[in-house]
Amino acid sequence: MPTKTFYSKLLLLAFLLTFAAIAAKHFLPQKKFALIPGDATKTSYYLSDHKDANGKDAIYWINYENSHFHCDHTKTVESFSCAINFVLAQTRTQGTSLQQFSTMKIDIKYKGPAKTLRIAMRNFDPRFSTTENYNSDKFIFINLRTSDLNVPISLSMNELKVADWWIAQFNLPREQAQLDFRNIISVAIDIEEQLQGTEHDIQINQLEFTGDWISTEHWYLAILLAWLSFGTVFAIVRLVQLQRKEQQQREKISDLVVTNSKLRTETDKFRKLSTVDALTSAFNRHGIEQIIESLDIRLNATSIILLDIDHFKRINDRRGHDAGDRVLQKLSDVILKSIRASDKLGRWGGEEFVLICPNTSVGMAMALAEKLRIIIFDTVFEAENPVAVTASFGIAAILPDEAFTSAFKRADEALYNAKSLGRNCVVVAEKDNPL
Ligand code: GH3
Ligand code: MG
Ligand code: MG
Repeated sequence: MPTKTFYSKLLLLAFLLTFAAIAAKHFLPQKKFALIPGDATKTSYYLSDHKDANGKDAIYWINYENSHFHCDHTKTVESFSCAINFVLAQTRTQGTSLQQFSTMKIDIKYKGPAKTLRIAMRNFDPRFSTTENYNSDKFIFINLRTSDLNVPISLSMNELKVADWWIAQFNLPREQAQLDFRNIISVAIDIEEQLQGTEHDIQINQLEFTGDWISTEHWYLAILLAWLSFGTVFAIVRLVQLQRKEQQQREKISDLVVTNSKLRTETDKFRKLSTVDALTSAFNRHGIEQIIESLDIRLNATSIILLDIDHFKRINDRRGHDAGDRVLQKLSDVILKSIRASDKLGRWGGEEFVLICPNTSVGMAMALAEKLRIIIFDTVFEAENPVAVTASFGIAAILPDEAFTSAFKRADEALYNAKSLGRNCVVVAEKDNPL
């Protein structure tokens, strides 16, 4: 997965590219269309045809290559003009679009008495133009003061106008009377004023249309779109990454939950293992010690019953160790079924068990021990080949402020006495005997 530094670098790069794109707009090459200077094979231009009273050309080239011409109307009589015409049409109806040009650059040297020079264009529009009538092409023009023409000028295409007389003549609705450069048939430069008796010298050094290949509006829109695309892709990538990360974390958490529960089970198992005897499910010595610690012996009368299987060695010897184990298990089961939940059975070692009986007086403990003695005696061990099992019991009460070990010792002595008395009997420690 890419790092945060990578994203920061990417973002920085995007910002730098944006700045570069904004700055680059000013340095982009411009779209150009030059009528003059131009390639004569591409741009065709001609002068109006007019003869004077002597039959001589009143309008003639001084230098065609330099588009330098002269109008001499000192000897003309008929109606006349002084114009240079540029042909932009391939056919009568198909002109050239100057729509994408925003500026017209003009460099014209004029000598003569005229106050204005006119640049006029004709645009063929099939909605109202007809092939027969040239005048039906929309008439678009601008009048330039000859006094302004000493230096090259640059004018906006918006400065041109559709002639009012032309609009009036064709009686066009407003939406059709607007400026339109989409299908320019011709461009002319002429003098509109009274010409009789005058002479004009005109040299056109430059007549060029320029415009942006891509408008500023479109350029910024493209940058905006690039940002939107970039942002969208960025957001999608980030979203997918975050979802994947979230999924991974969820999986990790669920793994941890499983591991945690396993650990808890293991811990429970080990905790049990440390307090419970594996063979008999009675508490082991450690378990009993914990129970003793948790008991409030001073407040509650607690009795200890020790019991030891009689001649267990013999059972082992005669039936084998496994049979001995089964006897131990069954004995434990039988006892656990016969005692209260508050009484705790522990295996103290070998075939010796201890019962901790809280809230139990010595008398009650005696009754319980006697009950257990009879139950054990009556229980059938090793059903297929029954073996007689009996147990001897020693009882002691844990006295207030007495240590467990001390009370245990007395119970052990009582058990010893029970063995001495012939086994399968209950003996209470001398000190505790209520009788
Ligand atoms: P007493 O009536 O005097 O108690 O005689 P006893 O044979 O029961 O006593 P002793 O202490 O001589 O023998 C106890 C036997 O218990 C010895 C030992 O092999 C056996 N034993 C101890 N732990 C286990 C055990 O976990 N499983 C089996 N099968 N036998 C065990
Ligand atoms: Mg024994
Ligand atoms: Mg023993």
